[in-house]
Amino acid sequence: MEIMDRIHHRLNSISKSSQSYVFLFGNPVHHSLSPAMHNAAFKALGLPWKYSSILLKPEQIALGVELLKLPQVRGANITVPYKEAVGRYLNQLSPWSHRLQSVNTCFKNPRGALYGTTTDGEGFLKSLGSYRKKISQLQVLILGAGGSARAVASALVLEGAKRVHITNRTTAKAVELKRKLQTYSKTCEIACLDIPEAEKQLHRYDMIVQATSLGLNKNDPSPIRLTKAQPGSLAVDLIYHHRTEFLRLAQMNHLKTLDGLLMLLYQGMLSFEYWTRQKAPKPIMYQALLKSRHRFNKV
Ligand code: NAP
Repeated sequence: MEIMDRIHHRLNSISKSSQSYVFLFGNPVHHSLSPAMHNAAFKALGLPWKYSSILLKPEQIALGVELLKLPQVRGANITVPYKEAVGRYLNQLSPWSHRLQSVNTCFKNPRGALYGTTTDGEGFLKSLGSYRKKISQLQVLILGAGGSARAVASALVLEGAKRVHITNRTTAKAVELKRKLQTYSKTCEIACLDIPEAEKQLHRYDMIVQATSLGLNKNDPSPIRLTKAQPGSLAVDLIYHHRTEFLRLAQMNHLKTLDGLLMLLYQGMLSFEYWTRQKAPKPIMYQALLKSRHRFNKV
């Protein structure tokens, strides 16, 4: 069935349903572990809710937002590559989403107005565990300048990181991000580098965050070579559903590694709480993520 037919079919069946729905909009969405995580949480709390993914083409974002207006639909997550584009279809953005031009969570106020916010930055900081405590000493390189890179970079700058540098395929987007970040802090040293320069300077960083979508497909290369990275520094890849080439290279070069699974968990818990107004059941959600990643990688 064509995507368009599927959405119309969804509209029809939802308007007759007594169940509540939350959607994930993106392209691709087949790799997402969010449905397993949220459906396990709804079940654990006895909520008759269902979370499901909808693959959208760029010209179908408005139609996706139409789905959100149905009373049975409680909200949505937005993923690659629509975190920026979806904002203009919503009634109101949180101050953070407005500044970052990035929305990963939509929910409704009691009058049905559609509200967009982002839980990516806080989810990322929580995933760092003990590294969060030493953030004021951290020198960080971020690869990417898309929706999640913007959220991660802003969170690091506001949390007091010592240095945040950005490198991105499209330099103009990295420069724009740098300009924005500089308005958040007078103490953090913020700069942009091109990829060859970043590769030469890698020994300066305590943490390298891979926030591009290169790596989503199994055979994707790493966006950067890591031979000059400092052994013992931390390589974080926001991708969570498989081991990326970036993390494989990091391990080979004796860096510590962290994938995006914990970030997915924490940003998901925050989204869950916006939709349901109930405390997210962390152990259930984490177990569901581990199980569903295992299943995904067996196929
Ligand atoms: P996005 O807004 O679409 O941004 C994509 C970024 O990737 C841009 O910086 C883009 O560079 C870069 N990029 C795309 N293809 C590339 C290529 N072939 N070579 C080099 N750079 C490339 O996406 P996003 O929402 O920021 O998501 C980025 C990644 O983070 C995705 O893999 C997503 O799954 C992951 N993520 C994980 C979590 C989690 O909870 N773990 C949360 C959010 C996102 P240009 O500017 O040059 O186009």
